[in-house]
Amino acid sequence: MALWDTLCENVRALIDSTAPVDARYDANGTAPRTSLQQRDWPQSPQRERDPTHERLDNQPTSISKWIARLESGTFYPDITREELSIIQDRRYLPSGRYDYPRPDQLLSKNEAYGRLRAFLSGPENDSERHAHNNLERAWSVPANSVTPDLYIKIFNDLDELLFDGQLCNRVLVTWEDLHGDLLGNTSSRSNGNCCPADRIHIQLDRNMFYEESKAKVWGTLVHEMLHAYMFVMTDDASAHPREFGNACRALGRALGLQGLRGDDVIHDEDR
Ligand SMILES: [Zn+2]
Repeated sequence: MALWDTLCENVRALIDSTAPVDARYDANGTAPRTSLQQRDWPQSPQRERDPTHERLDNQPTSISKWIARLESGTFYPDITREELSIIQDRRYLPSGRYDYPRPDQLLSKNEAYGRLRAFLSGPENDSERHAHNNLERAWSVPANSVTPDLYIKIFNDLDELLFDGQLCNRVLVTWEDLHGDLLGNTSSRSNGNCCPADRIHIQLDRNMFYEESKAKVWGTLVHEMLHAYMFVMTDDASAHPREFGNACRALGRALGLQGLRGDDVIHDEDR
């Protein structure tokens, strides 16, 4: 190689080695996992700018009723477009969410159940009372005029009232065709390879919507939210120990909806 070429090569290598590197990303383009907050909301270099509603609105009409939108389905107050995107669209990644409060470290299961018990036995503050009123109104909508999107729209108020807001921004809820007798399923956050918005995933069975009572559908959502809460707090929510059943009963009592029984929240596997 000519001397001039060698010199150019060396200069280029020197420039490359001193090029600024975005400190938020490692060599593979993934965010370093230095805190729980960052792990929950990894920023993606390929982040899209809010294309969500286009995508949701372009769904074929045959499945659109399973997706909640502000303008259609069963009316529910106090939920925003962005909140619906966070709950429903696995690719949606809001910015500036790193400061969302959560435990500094994961709790043991007993600590997590204890924390939930303490929260549920405390008095309702103003925003919890507001959420409670919204939920009672939604509960009073006749079952035959409720559409599936309502169960997406009530999620944040259920979270506020029952789980101290710990599930907000951390959970994806979708209606799906689950196999077997499953009414619902909750899985832990994925490893981050499939989607930038790495959330705990609650799946609700579409058949359940048609075949089970309104109380059973509400109860199933709350049941799966308890699994999600345990994933947030302990990163392990697969089992149904006796304490899980007790917590289900406490959640049913805290909801206090006429006609919703403990059995609607506690499924067969909890007994
Ligand atoms: Zn379960």
